[in-house]
Amino acid sequence: MTASVTGPVGDGCVFCAIAAGLAPAQVVRRWSDTLAIVPLNPVADGHVIVLPARHVPDNVGPANLITSIGAEATQSVRHLHIHLVPRRAHDGLALPWSPARSAAAGPGTVSDDPTGAWIGEA
Ligand SMILES: [Zn+2]
Repeated sequence: MTASVTGPVGDGCVFCAIAAGLAPAQVVRRWSDTLAIVPLNPVADGHVIVLPARHVPDNVGPANLITSIGAEATQSVRHLHIHLVPRRAHDGLALPWSPARSAAAGPGTVSDDPTGAWIGEA
């Protein structure tokens, strides 16, 4: 793959290396400033990571940004929104697709309800 770096390259940043064509990745789509790649361990068919082609440091504290699109993905409010979930070491929170969550509560049991309430079924 050949590509040009469109911005500053983060030191040791694998996404910058992929964007520059210096590291292998399965690129699904590339736009002028963004690309979509298949993660090393996708959790479902069609799982991609969308990232800016130039390095954008994440200077906010540890957090997960999560969004859902469609009822099958547990979206309950049909208005685009993103959950910002602050994290800390050993906080015990699991991502919706993590084995811990699936084993404890079954898949699709987290709601995107603004109250953060849990539901029994997707
Ligand atoms: Zn980078």
